[in-house]
Amino acid sequence: MSETALRTVDVSCVFEVSQGFMKGTKPLRAVNGVSLNIPKGRVVGLVGESGCGKSTMANILLGLQKPTSGDVMSGDSLYYGQQTGYLDRKKIARRIQPIFQDPYSSLNPTKTIHSIVCLPLRIHNIGDPSKWDKKVYDILDLVGLPKRVAQSYPSQMSGGQRQRVAIARALIMKPEVVICDEPTSALDVSVQSQILNLLQDLRQELGLTYLLISHNLAVVEHMADRVAVMYLGRIVEEADANTLFDDPRHPYTKALLGSVLTPDPSLGVPDTHLGTVFPNPIDPPSGCSFHPRCSECMDICSKKAPKPSVEGGRMIECHRYQTNEAEVA
Ligand code: SF4
Repeated sequence: MSETALRTVDVSCVFEVSQGFMKGTKPLRAVNGVSLNIPKGRVVGLVGESGCGKSTMANILLGLQKPTSGDVMSGDSLYYGQQTGYLDRKKIARRIQPIFQDPYSSLNPTKTIHSIVCLPLRIHNIGDPSKWDKKVYDILDLVGLPKRVAQSYPSQMSGGQRQRVAIARALIMKPEVVICDEPTSALDVSVQSQILNLLQDLRQELGLTYLLISHNLAVVEHMADRVAVMYLGRIVEEADANTLFDDPRHPYTKALLGSVLTPDPSLGVPDTHLGTVFPNPIDPPSGCSFHPRCSECMDICSKKAPKPSVEGGRMIECHRYQTNEAEVA
């Protein structure tokens, strides 16, 4: 079994959302009891619709959002969580770095590329400042950018080049884990595969571990070793990528995979079988929160929430697959 780089244990994150003047607040469970294991050197994909809690999970792992309960573990030791009184952002940033969706807004337009890529070294005061220039040029070379771009500004670069800068900025810290939050969705289709291939090459060359957050199942299938499917703050199915894509079990996973467009226009727009729209997370459905949209719903589904079952390395949370009720470690 692979060594764990990062894992969450029963992590929840609840926001109090105002209901209007004099109406008080209601809790919104953005993440609800998520246990996710990210093995060292592997790519774990986290998929689901907008609003399912993926980005809140990313923020928790990056230490940008403190969980309401549960813990984040680095290997077997507590990283942060309910038992720690504060988040040591600097300590987390040395190990975990993000690559965000939009390279247009994640790079400071008033700074040169050199200054942007060098910033983490300055903030964390890493190494000998006289060697920072070389480190910047080396990392630009590693992500496929020529030395001359160092004096350019983000506005002078293409979307793909900007994302390479964002990757260089993340990797100059030599992190162990990179959280890739929709790393290609703001890019032209023509450069998406170049960035994905670059991420793959860098992972192998540097021994990186990725959490790949995406709503694009083709991207996840291309890169991930293991996939977790998230719905309304819960992970409803998790398995090795091949297993999950070849034989999806949870009705939500099946609907997600069924919604992928094919290149053959004669097949038309696929029926997602998702029925109603995504529910309001402030007022989630009773029982299984997917039941109003589920094509396989049974009587019990609206009354009782299913528990996670684990079998053959696959975790699934659905009444149709309650083979055992072992909690997921
Ligand atoms: Fe569908 Fe019931 Fe399974 Fe929920 S528990 S996914 S409603 S079959």
